[in-house]
Amino acid sequence: EKLGLNEIRELFLSFYQSKEHYRRQSFPLIPQNDKSLLIINSGMAPLKPYFAGIETPPSKRMTTCQKCIRTGDIENVGYTSRHGTFFEMLGSFSFGDYFKKESLTWGWEFITKVLKMPTDRLWATVYENDDDAYAIWRDVIGMPEERIVRLGKDDNFWEIGTGPCGPCSEIYFDRGEKYGCDNPDCKPGCDCDRYVEFWNHVFTQFSRDDEGNYSDLAHPNIDTGMGIERLACIMQGVESIFDVDTIKYILDAVVAKSGVEYKDGEAETDISIRIITDHLRSMTFMIGDSILPGNEGREYVLRRLIRRAARHGRILGIEGPFLAELSEKVIETSGDAYPELKQRRDMIKKVIAVEEEKFASTIDQGMKIINSYMDELKTEGSKTLDGEKAFKLHDTYGFPIDLTREILEESGYEIDLDGFEKAMEEQKKRSQAEQEMDDAGWDEVNAELSVEGETNFTGYETLFDTGLIKA
Ligand code: ATP
Ligand code: MG
Ligand code: MG
Ligand code: MG
Repeated sequence: EKLGLNEIRELFLSFYQSKEHYRRQSFPLIPQNDKSLLIINSGMAPLKPYFAGIETPPSKRMTTCQKCIRTGDIENVGYTSRHGTFFEMLGSFSFGDYFKKESLTWGWEFITKVLKMPTDRLWATVYENDDDAYAIWRDVIGMPEERIVRLGKDDNFWEIGTGPCGPCSEIYFDRGEKYGCDNPDCKPGCDCDRYVEFWNHVFTQFSRDDEGNYSDLAHPNIDTGMGIERLACIMQGVESIFDVDTIKYILDAVVAKSGVEYKDGEAETDISIRIITDHLRSMTFMIGDSILPGNEGREYVLRRLIRRAARHGRILGIEGPFLAELSEKVIETSGDAYPELKQRRDMIKKVIAVEEEKFASTIDQGMKIINSYMDELKTEGSKTLDGEKAFKLHDTYGFPIDLTREILEESGYEIDLDGFEKAMEEQKKRSQAEQEMDDAGWDEVNAELSVEGETNFTGYETLFDTGLIKA
């Protein structure tokens, strides 16, 4: 009786097809010809050339359901009811064709006529000086003024790196008083769980260049994005995206594997269960798009996700590898909509298994070492772990620096990141020197001097550069 996530996807795409949108399969997670972005993080990201007028779109109207990864949300995952590192974004796009009025009224038609959401639970936000959008909500759609909220640049102006950007209007669902907070002025934009943002309509009328200058686009565009998990959460009347049918299916398998009960979503073990569930989705989709674990860029993101999930498995008391087996659940629930998952089933499981094996041999020892480091810090009355030590954990025990950082932060400690980078640099120099000796034919000497382990790590800097990780 309740709509499943897979059915909602179909309803959305066919609704926009009926509005003459060209329907296209999701683009891969790896950006094509776009150095400003490590991984696709929105429906519009792969469409930038169309928005910027560099390429001609197959149609002036398009609709997709795009695979997205947002590493920047990694610390929210598990703790909020609405964030995943992986999610699917339903999108409708106009390349210089229709503009604000059609976008908002069709959006309204979809959620209130097709999905039959109760109108009195819906709120709208607009950018503070966007009177056009405000007037459409009030006069065309008939939204009562008390449910139209003007918000500032942080919430209602959309941009990623360079390229098309502009003001936006977002649609929120009121989950009811029991999710509210003490703030007498609690409304969309408030930090609590009562009002859930689920659909962003972006009016891309500007373009931002490398230096941060904005210019008008010749033809204003529409780019809307709606997280399908959040929409399904609302439609299914469940607590969080982890209770949505297809995601719950994966979560249940994590619960069965660990033998740890899932309680109210807030217990410490619940957080671990949610994190594993989410990371299983990201890793399966990433490998399905041919990303392999490694020490740089996207590959580092994948390695970090797999090892982070493995660690949470340990917290739940799971012995031995388990992620490869559970990735099957992701393929089962999403394989019809994303055939690449089925086609690459064996590869996906193999890659996860190999990475799990690699980490399994060092994780327990690494955890012991981290704990002894924290004990030392406690005795010393210090809060900051030596960069050298963090490097050793990375180099010898395969702990991605961000994982070490997180584990330390959980107990109130931090890392001397400058020291870590210095140790990394020295390692690079050492291996370069070895390389030179090698070139000189000193093979034996080199073999003796050479250090086993992971060198050439640049993922950390790369992630900082792209802003995917907060400094
Ligand atoms: P939030 O404020 O909740 O973090 P956002 O403003 O960052 O969301 P947008 O960039 O506006 O999100 O993306 C459009 C839509 O994509 C959101 O309205 C939401 O439905 C969905 N979305 C964004 N981030 C996530 C995420 N991490 N997990 C699931 N869905 C997401
Ligand atoms: Mg966000
Ligand atoms: Mg937001
Ligand atoms: Mg938003």
